[in-house]
Amino acid sequence: MKGETGDVSLYAGERPLPVAGETAPAATSRAAPRRISVLGATGSIGQNTLDLIGRAAPGEFEVVALTANADAGKLADLAIRHRARIAVVAEPDAYPALRDALAGTGIEAACGADALIEAATRPADCTVGAIVGAAGLAPTLAAVRQGRRIALANKECLVTAGELFMREVAAAGAELLPVDSEHSAAFQALGAAEPGWIEEITLTASGGPFRTWDLARIRAATPAEALRHPNWSMGAKISIDSASMMNKGLELIEAFHLFPVTAAQLKVVVHPQSIVHCLVSYRDGSVLAQLSSPDMRTPIALALSWPGRMTAPTERLDLVRLATLTFEAPDEERFPALALARAALERGGSAPAVLNAANEIAVHAFLHGRIGFLDIAATVAKCLDAAESRGLLTPAATLEDVLAMDGEARQLARSMLTTTGRPMEGHPGAGPDGRSTID
Ligand code: NAD
Ligand code: MG
Repeated sequence: MKGETGDVSLYAGERPLPVAGETAPAATSRAAPRRISVLGATGSIGQNTLDLIGRAAPGEFEVVALTANADAGKLADLAIRHRARIAVVAEPDAYPALRDALAGTGIEAACGADALIEAATRPADCTVGAIVGAAGLAPTLAAVRQGRRIALANKECLVTAGELFMREVAAAGAELLPVDSEHSAAFQALGAAEPGWIEEITLTASGGPFRTWDLARIRAATPAEALRHPNWSMGAKISIDSASMMNKGLELIEAFHLFPVTAAQLKVVVHPQSIVHCLVSYRDGSVLAQLSSPDMRTPIALALSWPGRMTAPTERLDLVRLATLTFEAPDEERFPALALARAALERGGSAPAVLNAANEIAVHAFLHGRIGFLDIAATVAKCLDAAESRGLLTPAATLEDVLAMDGEARQLARSMLTTTGRPMEGHPGAGPDGRSTID
C-alpha cells in the first residue's frame, strides 16, 4: 500500500527538492512568461490566483485558458482583464452570454464538458486546478496528462481518485504542487526529507464557526451561520465543509496521497487562529511548521513560483500582536465528519469517493435548506454503509469507473437525504441534480 513503502513521490517529475545551501532561482530571472491556465477561474482560489498574476511584473505570466461553471459575465471580465486566449463555461446555457461578452476581443469562447477538457490541454506551463468538487477531476486529469505543473486546490480530485491521479501524475511526468494551505505547509516543512525520517504530519484545522457551539445549537445551524467562517474567505462548499470539519477529513485523504506517510501518521489538531498550517514531526524530535496569515495567496504564490518565491500582498505576521497561538483536540462527537473521512481512508477502495459524492449532495441539500446541518454527516454515514453492503466500495481502476461510481454514490445519497429541514426562501443556487452551480 502507498505510504508504507514510501515509494510515492509528490514530484513525479523527479525534480529534487531544494536543499539547504542551494539557492533557488529568483522568480524574476525567467526569460519567457510562464503560461498559466486556471480551471475554476471565477471562484475564490481562481480569483486569488488571477489577483497575484495581475500584480506580477509585466511579462512574468501569460494567461492561456480560464474556465467557469456558469458565470459568463465574471469569466468574460477576467478573460479580458488578463488577456486570456480562451474562456470556457461548463454550462451550455451560459455560452451565448460569454460569446457576446467576448465578441471582438479576439478571445475564444466555448462551452461544455469537452471544451473544458480541450482548454485544459492547451499548452501551458502550469494549470491551476481550482474547480470545486468531483466536477474538476476529468479536466484536471486532462491537464495532468500533458506532463506539466499542476497547482492543485481541487482536493476532491485526490479524494475521489487518489491512486489513479497519482499514477497519472507519475506516468505523465507532471509536477504536482499543493495549493491547499495545510499541504503547501507540509510540502515546505518536508523539504528533502526521506520517508523514514518522518514520524507524523499534523494538519491544523480552524475548527470553523461552530468550534465552541454545543450539539443542540449545531443541529439548528442555518446555511448563513455555517458560511460565516471566522478566518478564511472561501467558496460556499468548502466553507460548509470547514464548519462540519469534513474539510479536514478530505484533507487527511489528500495528504495521504500527496506525502509518503501512512494514514496512522496523519494527525489533526484544532488551531483557531489559522496561523500554523501544518507541522511535520521527525524521528529526532524536531517539529517543523509553516506559518503565515490566513490568506490563500501565500500557498498559491508558492505553487506558481516554486522553487522560487514571488511577492504576495498578504498581511505579514506580527507575532507580538498575535501573542497567543492555541491548540486543542478535535471533538469527533460534535464533528462526526472527521471520523467518517478517516474511516473511509482506512477502508480504502472507493470509500473515499463515496464519502465525497455523498458529502457533495448533502452539502448542496443543506445549502438549499432541505436538510439540517448534522444531516450532512448522517447522510454520508448512511450512504457509506449502504454502499458497503451493496459491494460498491471496490477500487475503481479508470477515470470512467471513478465517474460511474461517483454517479452511483450521488444517486444513493439523494435517495437517503433526510428531510428534517424546511426549504429556505430565496437561497441562490443550483439545479436539483446536486452539481455545484455556485459561481
Ligand atoms: P468556489 O466555489 O469559489 O469556485 C469554484 C469554481 O469552480 C468556480 O470557478 C466555478 O465556476 C467552478 N465550477 C463549479 N462547479 C463546476 C462544474 N460543475 N464544472 C466546471 N466548473 C465548475 O470554490 P473555491 O473556494 O475556490 O474552491 C475551489 C477548490 O479549492 C475546492 O476544491 C476547495 O476545496 C479548494 N480549496 C479552496 C480554498 C479556498 O480558500 N477557497 C482553500 C483550499 C482549498
Ligand atoms: Mg485547507
